[in-house]
Amino acid sequence: MKMVKQKPKKIDIKRLMSLCKPDALLLFFATIALVISSLANMAAPLFFGRVIDVALNPNHTMAQVNEQVLILFLIFVAGAIGATFRAWLFTLVGIRVVCRIRRQLFSAIMQQEIAFFDTTRTGDLTNRLSSDTGVVQNAVTVNISMLLRYLFQIFGSLIIMFKLSPSLTGVLFAAVPVVAIGATQYGKFVMGIQKKFQDELAAAGTTAEECISSVRTVRSFTGESKACATYGKDINKSYVQGRKLAASSGAFQGLVGIVAQGAVTLVLWYGAKLLFQGNITVGTLTSFMLYTMNVAMAFAFLSSLYGDFMKAVGASISIFNLMDRVPEVTNEGGEKIQPFPCQVDFKNVSFTYPSRPDTKVLKDITFSMKPGSVVALVGPSGGGKSTIVNLIERFYVPDTGNIMLGGVNMAGLDPQWFRKNISMVSQEPVLFACSIKDNITYGTDATDEEIEDAARQSNAHEFITTFEEGYDTLVGERGVRLSGGQKQRVAIARALIMNPSILLLDEATSALDAESEHLVKEAIDRAMEGRTVLVIAHRLSTVRNASEVIVINKGEVAERGTHEELINKGGVYKKLVLRQLSAGTLTTKAD
Ligand code: ADP
Repeated sequence: MKMVKQKPKKIDIKRLMSLCKPDALLLFFATIALVISSLANMAAPLFFGRVIDVALNPNHTMAQVNEQVLILFLIFVAGAIGATFRAWLFTLVGIRVVCRIRRQLFSAIMQQEIAFFDTTRTGDLTNRLSSDTGVVQNAVTVNISMLLRYLFQIFGSLIIMFKLSPSLTGVLFAAVPVVAIGATQYGKFVMGIQKKFQDELAAAGTTAEECISSVRTVRSFTGESKACATYGKDINKSYVQGRKLAASSGAFQGLVGIVAQGAVTLVLWYGAKLLFQGNITVGTLTSFMLYTMNVAMAFAFLSSLYGDFMKAVGASISIFNLMDRVPEVTNEGGEKIQPFPCQVDFKNVSFTYPSRPDTKVLKDITFSMKPGSVVALVGPSGGGKSTIVNLIERFYVPDTGNIMLGGVNMAGLDPQWFRKNISMVSQEPVLFACSIKDNITYGTDATDEEIEDAARQSNAHEFITTFEEGYDTLVGERGVRLSGGQKQRVAIARALIMNPSILLLDEATSALDAESEHLVKEAIDRAMEGRTVLVIAHRLSTVRNASEVIVINKGEVAERGTHEELINKGGVYKKLVLRQLSAGTLTTKAD
Protein backbone atom coordinates (compact mmCIF):
# COMPACT_ATOMS: atom_id res chain seq x y z
CA MET A 1 0.00 0.00 0.00
CA LYS A 2 1.40 3.39 -0.95
CA MET A 3 0.75 6.51 1.10
CA VAL A 4 -1.44 8.80 -1.00
CA LYS A 5 -0.48 12.41 -0.38
CA GLN A 6 -3.59 14.31 0.64
CA LYS A 7 -4.04 17.70 -0.96
CA PRO A 8 -3.49 20.69 1.31
CA LYS A 9 -6.58 22.89 1.52
CA LYS A 10 -6.57 26.61 0.84
CA ILE A 11 -7.86 29.39 3.10
CA ASP A 12 -11.56 28.92 3.68
CA ILE A 13 -13.01 31.87 5.56
CA LYS A 14 -16.56 30.84 4.69
CA ARG A 15 -16.00 27.48 6.32
CA LEU A 16 -14.42 29.13 9.31
CA MET A 17 -17.59 31.18 9.70
CA SER A 18 -19.86 28.20 9.12
CA LEU A 19 -18.50 26.70 12.35
CA CYS A 20 -20.68 29.24 14.17
CA LYS A 21 -23.87 28.12 12.40
CA PRO A 22 -25.28 25.98 15.23
CA ASP A 23 -25.05 29.04 17.48
CA ALA A 24 -26.91 31.30 15.07
CA LEU A 25 -29.55 32.26 17.66
CA LEU A 26 -26.99 33.19 20.27
CA LEU A 27 -25.10 35.15 17.64
CA PHE A 28 -28.32 36.94 16.68
CA PHE A 29 -28.85 38.16 20.26
CA ALA A 30 -25.17 38.97 20.54
CA THR A 31 -25.46 41.09 17.41
CA ILE A 32 -28.52 42.93 18.79
CA ALA A 33 -26.52 43.72 21.94
CA LEU A 34 -23.66 44.84 19.73
CA VAL A 35 -25.93 47.14 17.72
CA ILE A 36 -27.32 48.68 20.93
CA SER A 37 -23.89 49.33 22.40
CA SER A 38 -22.58 50.69 19.08
CA LEU A 39 -25.59 52.98 18.60
CA ALA A 40 -25.04 54.31 22.10
CA ASN A 41 -21.36 54.82 21.33
CA MET A 42 -22.27 56.74 18.21
CA ALA A 43 -24.98 58.87 19.77
CA ALA A 44 -22.87 59.86 22.78
CA PRO A 45 -20.57 62.44 21.09
CA LEU A 46 -23.58 64.08 19.41
CA PHE A 47 -25.29 64.59 22.78
CA PHE A 48 -22.00 65.51 24.38
CA GLY A 49 -21.72 68.40 21.87
CA ARG A 50 -25.32 69.31 22.52
CA VAL A 51 -24.69 69.68 26.28
CA ILE A 52 -21.86 72.11 25.47
CA ASP A 53 -23.91 74.15 22.98
CA VAL A 54 -26.92 74.31 25.37
CA ALA A 55 -24.63 75.38 28.22
CA LEU A 56 -22.86 78.03 26.11
CA ASN A 57 -26.13 79.53 24.86
CA PRO A 58 -27.30 82.26 27.31
CA ASN A 59 -30.95 81.76 26.18
CA HIS A 60 -31.02 78.26 27.72
CA THR A 61 -31.89 77.50 31.38
CA MET A 62 -30.02 75.10 33.70
CA ALA A 63 -33.04 72.77 33.57
CA GLN A 64 -32.48 72.37 29.83
CA VAL A 65 -28.79 71.58 30.48
CA ASN A 66 -29.84 69.00 33.09
CA GLU A 67 -32.20 67.40 30.59
CA GLN A 68 -29.42 67.06 28.01
CA VAL A 69 -27.04 65.60 30.63
CA LEU A 70 -29.70 63.06 31.67
CA ILE A 71 -30.18 61.99 28.05
CA LEU A 72 -26.41 61.57 27.70
CA PHE A 73 -26.31 59.50 30.91
CA LEU A 74 -29.14 57.24 29.72
CA ILE A 75 -27.28 56.72 26.46
CA PHE A 76 -24.19 55.63 28.43
CA VAL A 77 -26.28 53.21 30.53
CA ALA A 78 -27.86 51.66 27.41
CA GLY A 79 -24.36 51.34 25.91
CA ALA A 80 -23.03 49.61 29.04
CA ILE A 81 -25.91 47.09 29.11
CA GLY A 82 -25.42 46.39 25.40
CA ALA A 83 -21.66 45.94 25.93
CA THR A 84 -22.24 43.49 28.79
CA PHE A 85 -24.45 41.21 26.71
CA ARG A 86 -22.24 41.61 23.65
CA ALA A 87 -19.10 40.51 25.49
CA TRP A 88 -20.85 37.67 27.33
CA LEU A 89 -22.66 36.19 24.32
CA PHE A 90 -19.80 36.45 21.84
CA THR A 91 -17.37 34.86 24.29
CA LEU A 92 -19.86 32.10 25.02
CA VAL A 93 -20.25 31.37 21.30
CA GLY A 94 -16.45 31.28 21.06
CA ILE A 95 -16.19 28.64 23.75
CA ARG A 96 -18.97 26.59 22.18
CA VAL A 97 -17.37 26.77 18.75
CA VAL A 98 -13.97 25.69 19.98
CA CYS A 99 -15.48 22.75 21.88
CA ARG A 100 -17.22 21.72 18.67
CA ILE A 101 -14.03 22.00 16.61
CA ARG A 102 -12.08 20.02 19.20
CA ARG A 103 -14.68 17.25 19.23
CA GLN A 104 -14.75 17.04 15.43
CA LEU A 105 -10.99 17.16 15.17
CA PHE A 106 -10.46 14.49 17.82
CA SER A 107 -12.97 12.22 16.15
CA ALA A 108 -11.18 12.75 12.81
CA ILE A 109 -7.87 11.84 14.46
CA MET A 110 -9.38 8.70 16.00
CA GLN A 111 -10.57 7.54 12.58
CA GLN A 112 -7.12 7.69 10.95
CA GLU A 113 -5.38 4.50 9.93
CA ILE A 114 -2.59 3.17 12.17
CA ALA A 115 0.03 3.95 9.51
CA PHE A 116 -0.86 7.65 9.90
CA PHE A 117 0.21 7.45 13.56
CA ASP A 118 3.48 5.74 12.54
CA THR A 119 4.43 8.92 10.69
CA THR A 120 2.76 11.67 12.75
CA ARG A 121 4.12 12.75 16.11
CA THR A 122 1.57 12.69 18.93
CA GLY A 123 2.55 16.16 20.10
CA ASP A 124 1.73 17.61 16.68
CA LEU A 125 -1.78 16.27 16.99
CA THR A 126 -2.36 17.38 20.57
CA ASN A 127 -1.08 20.81 19.63
CA ARG A 128 -3.54 21.07 16.77
CA LEU A 129 -6.22 20.22 19.31
CA SER A 130 -5.21 22.73 21.94
CA SER A 131 -3.26 25.66 20.58
CA ASP A 132 -4.51 25.98 16.97
CA THR A 133 -8.12 25.62 17.99
CA GLY A 134 -7.64 28.31 20.63
CA VAL A 135 -6.44 30.76 17.99
CA VAL A 136 -9.47 29.98 15.86
CA GLN A 137 -11.79 30.42 18.81
CA ASN A 138 -10.68 34.02 19.23
CA ALA A 139 -11.03 34.73 15.55
CA VAL A 140 -14.54 33.47 15.09
CA THR A 141 -15.97 35.12 18.15
CA VAL A 142 -14.27 37.90 20.06
CA ASN A 143 -12.60 39.15 16.90
CA ILE A 144 -15.79 38.99 14.89
CA SER A 145 -17.63 40.86 17.59
CA MET A 146 -14.97 43.54 17.60
CA LEU A 147 -14.87 43.62 13.81
CA LEU A 148 -18.61 44.22 13.59
CA ARG A 149 -18.47 46.74 16.38
CA TYR A 150 -15.71 48.81 14.84
CA LEU A 151 -17.11 48.64 11.31
CA PHE A 152 -20.43 49.79 12.70
CA GLN A 153 -18.67 52.51 14.63
CA ILE A 154 -16.70 53.71 11.60
CA PHE A 155 -19.63 53.80 9.16
CA GLY A 156 -22.10 55.23 11.67
CA SER A 157 -19.68 57.89 12.82
CA LEU A 158 -18.80 58.84 9.26
CA ILE A 159 -22.47 59.31 8.35
CA ILE A 160 -23.07 61.57 11.37
CA MET A 161 -19.80 63.37 10.72
CA PHE A 162 -20.77 63.98 7.13
CA LYS A 163 -24.03 65.48 8.34
CA LEU A 164 -22.21 67.67 10.88
CA SER A 165 -19.60 68.96 8.44
CA PRO A 166 -18.97 67.55 4.95
CA SER A 167 -15.76 69.52 4.48
CA LEU A 168 -14.19 68.29 7.77
CA THR A 169 -15.17 64.72 6.83
CA GLY A 170 -13.39 65.19 3.49
CA VAL A 171 -10.18 66.13 5.34
CA LEU A 172 -10.40 62.98 7.45
CA PHE A 173 -10.74 60.78 4.38
CA ALA A 174 -7.23 61.69 3.31
CA ALA A 175 -5.88 59.25 5.90
CA VAL A 176 -8.09 56.26 5.01
CA PRO A 177 -6.21 54.80 2.00
CA VAL A 178 -2.88 54.78 3.89
CA VAL A 179 -4.36 52.72 6.73
CA ALA A 180 -6.27 50.37 4.43
CA ILE A 181 -3.28 49.49 2.23
CA GLY A 182 -1.00 49.09 5.27
CA ALA A 183 -3.46 46.77 7.00
CA THR A 184 -3.82 44.46 4.00
CA GLN A 185 -0.08 44.09 3.54
CA TYR A 186 0.46 43.53 7.24
CA GLY A 187 -2.26 40.89 7.36
CA LYS A 188 -0.65 38.82 4.62
CA PHE A 189 2.75 39.07 6.24
CA VAL A 190 1.47 38.10 9.68
CA MET A 191 -0.47 35.11 8.40
CA GLY A 192 2.72 33.54 7.01
CA ILE A 193 4.75 34.11 10.18
CA GLN A 194 1.90 32.94 12.40
CA LYS A 195 1.67 29.60 10.60
CA LYS A 196 5.43 29.06 11.05
CA PHE A 197 5.16 30.16 14.69
CA GLN A 198 2.39 27.62 15.38
CA ASP A 199 4.32 24.85 13.59
CA GLU A 200 7.49 25.54 15.59
CA LEU A 201 5.46 25.63 18.78
CA ALA A 202 3.86 22.30 17.88
CA ALA A 203 7.31 20.77 17.34
CA ALA A 204 8.46 22.03 20.75
CA GLY A 205 5.28 20.68 22.34
CA THR A 206 5.95 17.27 20.83
CA THR A 207 9.49 17.19 22.19
CA ALA A 208 8.20 18.12 25.65
CA GLU A 209 5.50 15.49 25.53
CA GLU A 210 7.92 12.74 24.50
CA CYS A 211 10.38 13.63 27.27
CA ILE A 212 7.73 14.00 29.97
CA SER A 213 5.95 10.76 29.10
CA SER A 214 9.30 8.90 29.03
CA VAL A 215 10.71 10.63 32.08
CA ARG A 216 11.87 7.35 33.60
CA THR A 217 14.06 6.60 30.60
CA VAL A 218 15.31 10.19 30.55
CA ARG A 219 16.19 9.95 34.25
CA SER A 220 17.93 6.58 34.06
CA PHE A 221 20.13 7.74 31.16
CA THR A 222 20.72 11.09 32.95
CA GLY A 223 19.27 12.70 29.85
CA GLU A 224 17.69 15.71 31.59
CA SER A 225 20.12 18.28 30.27
CA LYS A 226 19.97 16.79 26.78
CA ALA A 227 16.16 16.93 26.91
CA CYS A 228 16.30 20.54 28.10
CA ALA A 229 18.73 21.43 25.34
CA THR A 230 16.52 19.86 22.65
CA TYR A 231 13.43 21.56 24.00
CA GLY A 232 15.32 24.85 24.35
CA LYS A 233 16.42 24.60 20.72
CA ASP A 234 12.83 23.98 19.58
CA ILE A 235 11.51 26.84 21.68
CA ASN A 236 14.19 29.09 20.26
CA LYS A 237 12.96 28.38 16.75
CA SER A 238 9.47 29.46 17.76
CA TYR A 239 10.99 32.47 19.52
CA VAL A 240 12.60 33.60 16.25
CA GLN A 241 9.18 33.61 14.59
CA GLY A 242 7.57 35.18 17.67
CA ARG A 243 10.17 37.97 17.58
CA LYS A 244 9.24 38.74 13.98
CA LEU A 245 5.58 38.74 14.96
CA ALA A 246 6.21 41.12 17.84
CA ALA A 247 8.32 43.51 15.76
CA SER A 248 5.88 43.63 12.88
CA SER A 249 2.94 44.09 15.21
CA GLY A 250 4.73 46.95 17.00
CA ALA A 251 5.76 48.67 13.78
CA PHE A 252 2.28 48.40 12.39
CA GLN A 253 0.60 49.67 15.54
CA GLY A 254 2.98 52.61 15.56
CA LEU A 255 2.30 53.41 11.94
CA VAL A 256 -1.43 53.24 12.44
CA GLY A 257 -1.13 55.41 15.56
CA ILE A 258 0.79 58.11 13.71
CA VAL A 259 -1.59 58.12 10.78
CA ALA A 260 -4.68 58.15 13.05
CA GLN A 261 -3.36 60.89 15.35
CA GLY A 262 -2.11 62.84 12.35
CA ALA A 263 -5.63 62.73 10.95
CA VAL A 264 -7.06 63.92 14.29
CA THR A 265 -4.61 66.85 14.36
CA LEU A 266 -5.41 67.73 10.77
CA VAL A 267 -9.15 67.75 11.51
CA LEU A 268 -8.61 69.84 14.66
CA TRP A 269 -6.60 72.40 12.71
CA TYR A 270 -9.19 72.63 9.93
CA GLY A 271 -12.05 72.74 12.51
CA ALA A 272 -10.37 75.63 14.33
CA LYS A 273 -10.16 77.46 11.02
CA LEU A 274 -13.91 76.91 10.44
CA LEU A 275 -14.62 78.10 14.02
CA PHE A 276 -12.68 81.30 13.39
CA GLN A 277 -14.68 81.88 10.23
CA GLY A 278 -17.90 81.35 12.25
CA ASN A 279 -18.93 78.37 10.06
CA ILE A 280 -19.25 75.92 12.98
CA THR A 281 -20.26 75.99 16.68
CA VAL A 282 -17.99 74.86 19.55
CA GLY A 283 -20.41 72.01 20.34
CA THR A 284 -20.36 70.74 16.73
CA LEU A 285 -16.57 70.85 16.61
CA THR A 286 -16.38 68.98 19.95
CA SER A 287 -18.79 66.31 18.66
CA PHE A 288 -16.85 66.07 15.42
CA MET A 289 -13.56 65.66 17.25
CA LEU A 290 -15.02 62.92 19.43
CA TYR A 291 -16.26 61.12 16.31
CA THR A 292 -12.87 61.52 14.70
CA MET A 293 -11.25 59.89 17.73
CA ASN A 294 -13.85 57.14 17.59
CA VAL A 295 -13.05 56.45 13.95
CA ALA A 296 -9.31 56.64 14.52
CA MET A 297 -9.50 54.26 17.45
CA ALA A 298 -11.74 51.91 15.53
CA PHE A 299 -9.23 51.87 12.67
CA ALA A 300 -6.38 51.17 15.04
CA PHE A 301 -8.26 48.25 16.63
CA LEU A 302 -9.41 46.99 13.25
CA SER A 303 -5.86 46.80 12.00
CA SER A 304 -4.74 44.71 14.96
CA LEU A 305 -7.85 42.58 14.52
CA TYR A 306 -6.93 41.97 10.93
CA GLY A 307 -3.65 40.51 12.15
CA ASP A 308 -5.44 38.25 14.65
CA PHE A 309 -7.85 37.18 12.00
CA MET A 310 -5.08 36.24 9.63
CA LYS A 311 -3.41 34.26 12.43
CA ALA A 312 -6.62 32.31 12.82
CA VAL A 313 -6.88 31.67 9.12
CA GLY A 314 -3.33 30.26 9.25
CA ALA A 315 -4.26 27.96 12.15
CA SER A 316 -7.54 26.94 10.54
CA ILE A 317 -5.73 25.65 7.45
CA SER A 318 -3.92 23.08 9.60
CA ILE A 319 -7.12 22.21 11.46
CA PHE A 320 -9.23 21.70 8.34
CA ASN A 321 -6.49 19.68 6.64
CA LEU A 322 -6.52 17.26 9.54
CA MET A 323 -10.30 17.31 9.93
CA ASP A 324 -10.81 16.47 6.25
CA ARG A 325 -8.15 13.81 6.02
CA VAL A 326 -9.71 10.65 4.62
CA PRO A 327 -8.31 7.57 6.40
CA GLU A 328 -6.62 5.24 3.96
CA VAL A 329 -7.95 2.20 5.81
CA THR A 330 -11.64 2.45 6.63
CA ASN A 331 -12.56 1.94 10.23
CA GLU A 332 -16.26 1.19 9.93
CA GLY A 333 -18.89 -0.18 7.60
CA GLY A 334 -18.90 -3.54 5.79
CA GLU A 335 -20.40 -6.98 6.09
CA LYS A 336 -20.99 -8.94 9.29
CA ILE A 337 -21.17 -12.73 9.37
CA GLN A 338 -23.38 -14.49 11.92
CA PRO A 339 -22.39 -16.49 13.86
CA PHE A 340 -18.85 -15.19 14.15
CA PRO A 341 -16.56 -17.53 12.20
CA CYS A 342 -13.36 -18.63 13.88
CA GLN A 343 -11.47 -19.69 10.79
CA VAL A 344 -8.70 -17.33 9.67
CA ASP A 345 -6.73 -17.93 6.47
CA PHE A 346 -3.69 -16.04 5.27
CA LYS A 347 -3.37 -16.52 1.51
CA ASN A 348 -0.08 -15.44 -0.06
CA VAL A 349 0.07 -12.32 2.07
CA SER A 350 2.90 -9.86 1.47
CA PHE A 351 3.24 -6.63 3.38
CA THR A 352 5.35 -3.49 3.62
CA TYR A 353 4.88 -0.86 6.37
CA PRO A 354 3.81 2.40 4.65
CA SER A 355 6.29 4.29 6.84
CA ARG A 356 9.12 2.11 5.54
CA PRO A 357 8.24 1.46 1.90
CA ASP A 358 11.60 -0.09 0.94
CA THR A 359 11.43 -3.08 3.26
CA LYS A 360 9.13 -6.00 2.62
CA VAL A 361 8.28 -7.27 6.09
CA LEU A 362 6.10 -10.26 5.09
CA LYS A 363 6.63 -12.32 1.94
CA ASP A 364 4.00 -14.65 0.60
CA ILE A 365 2.69 -15.88 3.96
CA THR A 366 0.09 -18.65 3.81
CA PHE A 367 -1.35 -20.42 6.85
CA SER A 368 -4.71 -21.26 8.45
CA MET A 369 -6.18 -21.06 11.91
CA LYS A 370 -8.95 -23.64 12.29
CA PRO A 371 -11.78 -23.01 14.77
CA GLY A 372 -10.67 -24.00 18.28
CA SER A 373 -7.05 -24.50 17.29
CA VAL A 374 -3.97 -22.91 18.83
CA VAL A 375 -1.45 -21.69 16.28
CA ALA A 376 1.92 -20.67 17.68
CA LEU A 377 4.18 -18.25 15.87
CA VAL A 378 7.84 -18.54 16.75
CA GLY A 379 11.04 -17.27 15.24
CA PRO A 380 13.79 -14.73 15.58
CA SER A 381 12.92 -11.25 16.75
CA GLY A 382 12.08 -8.86 13.91
CA GLY A 383 10.93 -11.77 11.71
CA GLY A 384 7.37 -10.45 11.31
CA LYS A 385 5.27 -12.22 13.97
CA SER A 386 3.72 -9.07 15.44
CA THR A 387 3.08 -7.80 11.95
CA ILE A 388 0.92 -10.88 11.28
CA VAL A 389 -1.12 -10.05 14.40
CA ASN A 390 -1.41 -6.41 13.26
CA LEU A 391 -2.79 -7.56 9.92
CA ILE A 392 -5.48 -9.74 11.58
CA GLU A 393 -6.57 -6.67 13.58
CA ARG A 394 -6.56 -4.88 10.22
CA PHE A 395 -4.38 -2.10 11.56
CA TYR A 396 -2.74 -2.34 8.15
CA VAL A 397 -3.78 -3.74 4.78
CA PRO A 398 -1.66 -6.35 2.93
CA ASP A 399 0.10 -5.24 -0.28
CA THR A 400 -0.90 -8.46 -2.02
CA GLY A 401 -2.73 -11.63 -1.00
CA ASN A 402 -5.81 -11.93 1.18
CA ILE A 403 -6.71 -12.52 4.78
CA MET A 404 -9.99 -14.41 5.04
CA LEU A 405 -12.33 -14.68 8.02
CA GLY A 406 -14.73 -17.62 7.66
CA GLY A 407 -13.86 -17.77 3.96
CA VAL A 408 -14.74 -14.09 3.38
CA ASN A 409 -12.09 -11.52 2.56
CA MET A 410 -11.60 -9.31 5.64
CA ALA A 411 -11.42 -6.28 3.36
CA GLY A 412 -15.21 -6.45 2.95
CA LEU A 413 -16.02 -7.04 6.62
CA ASP A 414 -16.93 -4.47 9.25
CA PRO A 415 -13.70 -3.83 11.24
CA GLN A 416 -15.51 -2.63 14.35
CA TRP A 417 -17.57 -5.79 14.39
CA PHE A 418 -14.69 -8.24 14.03
CA ARG A 419 -12.50 -6.30 16.48
CA LYS A 420 -15.22 -6.78 19.08
CA ASN A 421 -14.85 -10.52 18.60
CA ILE A 422 -11.07 -10.63 18.45
CA SER A 423 -9.16 -9.71 21.58
CA MET A 424 -5.52 -8.97 21.80
CA VAL A 425 -3.15 -9.18 24.73
CA SER A 426 0.12 -7.60 23.76
CA GLN A 427 3.57 -7.97 25.21
CA GLU A 428 3.53 -4.58 26.89
CA PRO A 429 -0.12 -3.94 27.65
CA VAL A 430 -1.12 -0.28 27.80
CA LEU A 431 -3.56 0.70 30.51
CA PHE A 432 -5.35 4.03 30.66
CA ALA A 433 -5.10 6.55 33.48
CA CYS A 434 -8.40 5.57 35.06
CA SER A 435 -9.60 2.96 37.58
CA ILE A 436 -8.90 -0.76 37.27
CA LYS A 437 -12.62 -1.26 36.70
CA ASP A 438 -12.74 1.22 33.82
CA ASN A 439 -9.66 -0.38 32.32
CA ILE A 440 -11.25 -3.83 32.40
CA THR A 441 -14.48 -2.57 30.81
CA TYR A 442 -12.67 -0.43 28.25
CA GLY A 443 -14.11 -2.19 25.19
CA THR A 444 -17.58 -3.00 26.48
CA ASP A 445 -20.24 -2.39 29.10
CA ALA A 446 -20.27 -4.97 31.87
CA THR A 447 -21.84 -5.60 35.24
CA ASP A 448 -19.80 -5.73 38.44
CA GLU A 449 -20.22 -9.54 38.49
CA GLU A 450 -18.85 -9.85 34.96
CA ILE A 451 -15.91 -7.61 35.85
CA GLU A 452 -15.10 -9.67 38.90
CA ASP A 453 -15.48 -12.89 36.97
CA ALA A 454 -13.03 -11.71 34.29
CA ALA A 455 -10.62 -10.56 36.99
CA ARG A 456 -10.84 -13.95 38.75
CA GLN A 457 -10.18 -15.80 35.49
CA SER A 458 -7.13 -13.64 34.88
CA ASN A 459 -5.78 -14.08 38.43
CA ALA A 460 -6.24 -10.35 39.02
CA HIS A 461 -9.07 -10.40 41.59
CA GLU A 462 -6.76 -11.29 44.50
CA PHE A 463 -4.34 -8.42 44.12
CA ILE A 464 -7.11 -5.93 43.24
CA THR A 465 -8.95 -6.67 46.46
CA THR A 466 -5.80 -6.05 48.51
CA PHE A 467 -5.92 -2.41 47.36
CA GLU A 468 -7.84 -0.11 49.66
CA GLU A 469 -10.04 1.14 46.84
CA GLY A 470 -10.35 -2.26 45.15
CA TYR A 471 -11.63 -2.05 41.59
CA ASP A 472 -11.80 1.76 41.85
CA THR A 473 -8.03 2.05 42.37
CA LEU A 474 -6.51 4.44 39.86
CA VAL A 475 -3.67 2.86 37.90
CA GLY A 476 -1.86 6.08 36.89
CA GLU A 477 -0.73 7.10 33.44
CA ARG A 478 -0.17 3.98 31.31
CA GLY A 479 -0.69 1.93 34.46
CA VAL A 480 2.53 3.06 36.20
CA ARG A 481 1.11 2.31 39.65
CA LEU A 482 0.87 -1.41 38.89
CA SER A 483 3.66 -3.96 38.54
CA GLY A 484 4.35 -5.55 35.15
CA GLY A 485 2.58 -8.78 36.11
CA GLN A 486 -0.43 -6.93 37.56
CA LYS A 487 -0.75 -4.83 34.42
CA GLN A 488 -0.70 -7.95 32.31
CA ARG A 489 -3.40 -9.62 34.36
CA VAL A 490 -5.63 -6.55 34.12
CA ALA A 491 -5.01 -6.56 30.37
CA ILE A 492 -6.01 -10.23 30.19
CA ALA A 493 -9.21 -9.43 32.13
CA ARG A 494 -9.89 -6.60 29.67
CA ALA A 495 -9.55 -9.05 26.79
CA LEU A 496 -11.64 -11.76 28.47
CA ILE A 497 -14.59 -9.54 29.33
CA MET A 498 -15.20 -9.14 25.60
CA ASN A 499 -15.65 -12.93 25.48
CA PRO A 500 -13.67 -13.02 22.24
CA SER A 501 -14.00 -15.83 19.73
CA ILE A 502 -10.42 -15.35 18.62
CA LEU A 503 -7.58 -14.50 20.97
CA LEU A 504 -4.35 -12.93 19.78
CA LEU A 505 -1.61 -13.30 22.36
CA ASP A 506 1.88 -12.07 22.65
CA GLU A 507 3.32 -14.07 25.49
CA ALA A 508 5.83 -12.12 27.47
CA THR A 509 6.73 -13.66 30.72
CA SER A 510 10.48 -13.30 30.59
CA ALA A 511 10.46 -9.87 32.28
CA LEU A 512 8.37 -11.09 35.23
CA ASP A 513 9.42 -12.66 38.49
CA ALA A 514 8.67 -16.35 39.01
CA GLU A 515 5.50 -15.78 41.05
CA SER A 516 4.02 -13.27 38.58
CA GLU A 517 5.04 -15.45 35.68
CA HIS A 518 3.18 -18.38 37.16
CA LEU A 519 0.01 -16.30 37.73
CA VAL A 520 0.14 -14.74 34.25
CA LYS A 521 0.80 -18.11 32.63
CA GLU A 522 -2.13 -19.65 34.46
CA ALA A 523 -4.36 -16.74 33.38
CA ILE A 524 -3.25 -17.08 29.78
CA ASP A 525 -3.83 -20.83 29.74
CA ARG A 526 -7.32 -20.29 31.14
CA ALA A 527 -8.02 -17.58 28.58
CA MET A 528 -7.01 -19.88 25.74
CA GLU A 529 -9.45 -22.63 26.73
CA GLY A 530 -12.17 -23.16 24.12
CA ARG A 531 -10.94 -20.35 21.89
CA THR A 532 -9.22 -20.03 18.56
CA VAL A 533 -5.82 -18.68 19.45
CA LEU A 534 -2.89 -17.19 17.62
CA VAL A 535 -0.01 -16.91 20.04
CA ILE A 536 3.41 -15.41 19.60
CA ALA A 537 5.00 -18.06 21.73
CA HIS A 538 7.91 -17.61 24.06
CA ARG A 539 7.48 -20.69 26.23
CA LEU A 540 8.15 -24.30 25.47
CA SER A 541 4.94 -25.45 27.13
CA THR A 542 2.87 -23.29 24.78
CA VAL A 543 4.44 -24.65 21.61
CA ARG A 544 4.18 -28.22 22.89
CA ASN A 545 0.42 -27.86 23.23
CA ALA A 546 -0.12 -25.87 20.01
CA SER A 547 -2.05 -27.46 17.14
CA GLU A 548 0.52 -26.05 14.74
CA VAL A 549 3.79 -24.20 15.13
CA ILE A 550 4.79 -21.78 12.39
CA VAL A 551 8.36 -20.58 12.31
CA ILE A 552 8.58 -17.07 10.83
CA ASN A 553 12.01 -16.00 9.74
CA LYS A 554 12.81 -12.82 7.77
CA GLY A 555 9.17 -12.40 6.80
CA GLU A 556 8.75 -15.92 5.46
CA VAL A 557 7.37 -19.21 6.74
CA ALA A 558 10.57 -21.13 7.41
CA GLU A 559 8.99 -24.27 8.85
CA ARG A 560 5.63 -25.50 10.07
CA GLY A 561 4.24 -28.54 11.83
CA THR A 562 3.64 -29.79 15.35
CA HIS A 563 6.35 -29.42 17.96
CA GLU A 564 7.34 -33.10 17.61
CA GLU A 565 7.42 -32.96 13.81
CA LEU A 566 9.65 -29.89 13.84
CA ILE A 567 12.01 -31.31 16.46
CA ASN A 568 12.35 -34.47 14.40
CA LYS A 569 13.05 -32.37 11.32
CA GLY A 570 16.09 -30.85 13.04
CA GLY A 571 15.89 -27.43 11.35
CA VAL A 572 15.61 -23.78 12.56
CA TYR A 573 12.95 -24.68 15.12
CA LYS A 574 15.06 -27.33 16.78
CA LYS A 575 17.90 -24.81 17.13
CA LEU A 576 15.48 -22.30 18.70
CA VAL A 577 14.17 -24.83 21.17
CA LEU A 578 17.63 -25.98 22.16
CA ARG A 579 18.57 -22.36 22.77
CA GLN A 580 15.40 -21.83 24.77
CA LEU A 581 16.34 -24.65 27.07
CA SER A 582 19.58 -22.85 27.86
CA ALA A 583 18.49 -19.19 27.57
CA GLY A 584 14.84 -19.27 28.55
CA THR A 585 13.24 -17.81 25.44
CA LEU A 586 12.21 -18.92 21.97
CA THR A 587 12.76 -15.59 20.25
CA THR A 588 16.46 -14.86 20.58
CA LYS A 589 18.19 -14.65 17.27
CA ALA A 590 18.43 -18.17 15.82
CA ASP A 591 21.62 -17.92 13.83
P1 ADP B 1 8.56 -9.79 15.44
O1 ADP B 1 7.21 -9.67 16.02
O2 ADP B 1 8.79 -11.11 14.76
O3 ADP B 1 9.66 -9.46 16.38
P2 ADP B 1 7.76 -7.49 13.90
O4 ADP B 1 6.57 -7.95 13.15
O5 ADP B 1 7.57 -6.66 15.10
O6 ADP B 1 8.69 -8.73 14.23
O7 ADP B 1 8.70 -6.66 12.93
C1 ADP B 1 9.01 -7.08 11.62
C2 ADP B 1 9.77 -5.95 10.92
O8 ADP B 1 8.89 -4.86 10.73
C3 ADP B 1 10.96 -5.42 11.73
O9 ADP B 1 12.01 -5.21 10.81
C4 ADP B 1 10.45 -4.11 12.29
O10 ADP B 1 11.52 -3.21 12.38
C5 ADP B 1 9.44 -3.67 11.24
N1 ADP B 1 8.34 -2.89 11.84
C6 ADP B 1 7.52 -3.25 12.86
N2 ADP B 1 6.60 -2.31 13.10
C7 ADP B 1 6.81 -1.33 12.21
C8 ADP B 1 6.17 -0.07 11.95
N3 ADP B 1 5.11 0.34 12.65
N4 ADP B 1 6.65 0.69 10.95
C9 ADP B 1 7.71 0.27 10.22
N5 ADP B 1 8.35 -0.88 10.42
C10 ADP B 1 7.92 -1.68 11.40
